[in-house]
Amino acid sequence: MTDAILELKGLSKYFGGIKANDDVNMSIERGELHCLIGPNGAGKSTIFRMIMGEYPPTKGEIIYEGKNITKLKMWQRAYRGISIKMQIPGVFGELSLYDNIRIALQKHVSQQEVEAEIQRLIHFVGIQDLGNPLVKNMSHGQQQWLEIAMALALRPKLLLLDEPAAGMGPEETEFTAQLVKKINAQGITVIFIDHDMNFVRRIAKRVTVLHCGKIFKEGPLEEIEADKDVIQIYLGE
Ligand code: ADP
Ligand code: MG
Repeated sequence: MTDAILELKGLSKYFGGIKANDDVNMSIERGELHCLIGPNGAGKSTIFRMIMGEYPPTKGEIIYEGKNITKLKMWQRAYRGISIKMQIPGVFGELSLYDNIRIALQKHVSQQEVEAEIQRLIHFVGIQDLGNPLVKNMSHGQQQWLEIAMALALRPKLLLLDEPAAGMGPEETEFTAQLVKKINAQGITVIFIDHDMNFVRRIAKRVTVLHCGKIFKEGPLEEIEADKDVIQIYLGE
């Protein structure tokens, strides 16, 4: 018996004639740190949007903790422990750092606990020494870590990270890799998307390669990295 936290069964998403995802089958073990890679336009973000409930699938099912959640609303999935940091920025630049986290914490913790929880989260993601600036004045990397803190505010069981290290320099990328590992070490199942193998190599154990909306390969990192066909689709990008 496996202990899958998430199963995708024949999951497909068509936009008119475009098959963004086509018959995707995946099983993610509880506690895994799983990577989804693939060239631009492969359909990676679309899978996340279906798991979180933003896009209804054209076909197929999403099973989470043994229950079919395909028809549930976004907030119902969030309530059950699915949280996401999207590829496009999801912070409020005109608001302060703490207010951004306050919004994410809404209703999840009591009023008395909010300030303590803000401190816990900013320490966890390493942005505790900034004071409380307007978010638009924070660096790109700091904003990304804030967004991860906001995703963690929901106390997720399953965290989806869409290109968490995009646009970062080497030091910030390394910091993000360590942060993702630390999140996973807390028992949170993590699926992350990235196309930078230098980042993937630092953290992933099992990798799924997506190509043209379909699963192209799946296996341990070492096997995927050495795979001639995978190298080929990357070079052919
Ligand atoms: P990736 O994240 O792997 O780069 P996406 O999942 O964003 O790829 O996109 C996969 C394909 O689906 C692309 O061809 C993209 O243009 C298309 N697509 C994604 N979202 C939409 C949408 N809302 N409407 C139309 N086409 C979309
Ligand atoms: Mg994407």
